[in-house]
Amino acid sequence: MSFVDHLLTWYRQSARNLPWRRTRDPYRVWLSEVMLQQTRVDTVIPYYERFLSAYPSIDALAAADEQSVLKLWEGLGYYSRARNLRKAAREVAEQHQGELPNRYDRLRQLPGFGPYTAAAVASIAFGEAVPVVDGNVLRVFARFWAIEDDIRAPRVKTQLFERLSPFVRQCDPSHFNQAIMELGALVCLPKRPKCEACPLRQECRARIEGRQGALPVKSKKSATPHKEIAVAVIWRDGQLLIGKRKVDQMLGGLWEFPGGKRRADESLEETAIREIREETGLEIELGAPYCTVEHAYSHFSISLTAFRATYRSGEALPHSTDELRWVRLDELDAFPFPTANKRVIEAIVAQHVTKR
Ligand code: SF4
Repeated sequence: MSFVDHLLTWYRQSARNLPWRRTRDPYRVWLSEVMLQQTRVDTVIPYYERFLSAYPSIDALAAADEQSVLKLWEGLGYYSRARNLRKAAREVAEQHQGELPNRYDRLRQLPGFGPYTAAAVASIAFGEAVPVVDGNVLRVFARFWAIEDDIRAPRVKTQLFERLSPFVRQCDPSHFNQAIMELGALVCLPKRPKCEACPLRQECRARIEGRQGALPVKSKKSATPHKEIAVAVIWRDGQLLIGKRKVDQMLGGLWEFPGGKRRADESLEETAIREIREETGLEIELGAPYCTVEHAYSHFSISLTAFRATYRSGEALPHSTDELRWVRLDELDAFPFPTANKRVIEAIVAQHVTKR
């Protein structure tokens, strides 16, 4: 038996029963693949189910407003995925009668369809013989074929795509691609791969040569920078001020408390007062912090300190946001916020409950 036969037999016996594996509906496959990028399966399942109840079809998603889509995505991170999903749904509704194109090269033309998503949807939903190459696939084959190149190098992805193409053509492309990704998720783990349970063990060069720990070769990421952020929760007549981030910014379309990055020569309090002046034109009186939240993004981490503040003077104008709004505390739940700001809201609510 070839390694492909071993792999597919293992997949039939070992595949996890996940909601998106019970369908080949292109919309559901697409949604699951987008949600699973950089995100764990356990985290995705409830989001996937909630999203489908709200938007059961591409046409329903196309008709949705961006804020509602972002609200459903809240906490899942990488929000451009949600914005692109909706954008692509609108394009599919307008130009393709609500049906996703059934070929890799045509899918690639839609917003948010990189090589990975297009290959996953084309192969899983439409059976097109095109390999997916994600982090799991790179790791498995870097070990299986003892590839010595740095797997972060784009050429390695391209080479693997070409090398895998003939194998995908020999079998059901949907099963082949899912089987490799599943093997990477369950067996060929980054640390301590479970070689004794692996269907590829007989031909795997890394296992035969005892080099599982040395492969794949991966260049080190440079150290992630850390930023100190100060924001102000500005109260005025029982309402507080929130701003909507510009669409072309990271976390675009989400809401936040105004503030920004501390400069080297400033205290956090000075940062908050300066940022509020620059971002909104308001003068404030700063109180004690509600909390400090630590949060890590893919390329940097932050410590975000949220100060209680009282409005003093000025008219709130959105100098660096799309919009500013005064809202009541009990209205905040209607807006999508990034995770660190959600923690701030929890701290505000907790303080208000204690004070009652
Ligand atoms: S034998 Fe071990 S190293 Fe090779 S593919 Fe399987 S789990 Fe990975």
